[in-house]
Amino acid sequence: MASLREKLKMLEELQQIDLETNAVRAELGAVPARKVEADARVVEARRAYDEAKQRLDGSERERRQIETLLGMERDKVKKWEGRLGEIRTPREYAALSREIDIAKKTNETQGEQLRALLAAATELRATLEARGDALAEEEERAEAAAAAIEAERAAAEARLAALEGRRAGAAAQVEPGLLAKYENIKRRRAGVAIAPVVGATCKGCHRNIPPQLSIVLQRADSIETCPNCHRIIYSEGAVNPPAPATA
Ligand SMILES: [Zn+2]
Repeated sequence: MASLREKLKMLEELQQIDLETNAVRAELGAVPARKVEADARVVEARRAYDEAKQRLDGSERERRQIETLLGMERDKVKKWEGRLGEIRTPREYAALSREIDIAKKTNETQGEQLRALLAAATELRATLEARGDALAEEEERAEAAAAAIEAERAAAEARLAALEGRRAGAAAQVEPGLLAKYENIKRRRAGVAIAPVVGATCKGCHRNIPPQLSIVLQRADSIETCPNCHRIIYSEGAVNPPAPATA
C-alpha cells in the first residue's frame, strides 16, 4: 500500500504528464493553421504573377490588333497613292490627296501607340519575370516550411504516444477513487487538479490558505483541497523534502 506522500507524488506526476499532453495536443492542433500560413505567401505570389501575366497578355493582344489594322491601313494608303496617277481631274486628285494625308496622320498616331505598347511590354515582361522569380522563391520556402512542420508534427506525435504510455502507467498506480477525484477536479479547474502550497500560498489559485490547513499539510497524511479553488493541495516541502545531506 502506497503511503499518502507517494499517492500525492503520483498525482503530481500524472498532472505533469497531463499538462505536457495538453501542450503537445495544442501543438498538433495548430498544424493545419501553420500549413495554411506557410501557403498564404505562395498564394499571394501566384496571384501577383497571374496579374502581371494578364497585363502582358492584354498588352500584346492590343499590340497585335493595332499591327493588323495598321498593316491594312498602310496597304490602303499604298493603293490610293497608286491610284493618284490614274486620276484625271484636279478636284478628284485633291480630294484623294486629302484622304491620303488624313490616313497617313492616323497611321502615324497608331504607329506611336504601337511603339508605346512595345515599350510597355518590355516593362511588363520584366515585372512578370521578377514575379516569376518571387513565386519560385516562395514555393521553395513554403516547401521547406511544410517539411519542417511535418517533421515537428511527427516528433509531436511521437511525444504524444510516449506521454500516453507514461500516463497509463502512472494512472494505474493511483487508486480508482482518487483518480476519479483528480479527473473531476481537472475537468472543472482548467486542466489543473493538484497544486503545491509554497509558503502559505496555493499555487493553483495564488491565494493564501488558513494557517490551520498549513499545519495539516505539513503532516502529508491526508488528501486536502484548497478552500478557495478546490484543487488537491499538498505541502511541497512535506511531500518532496530536500534530500538529506548525508552521502
Ligand atoms: Zn487554490
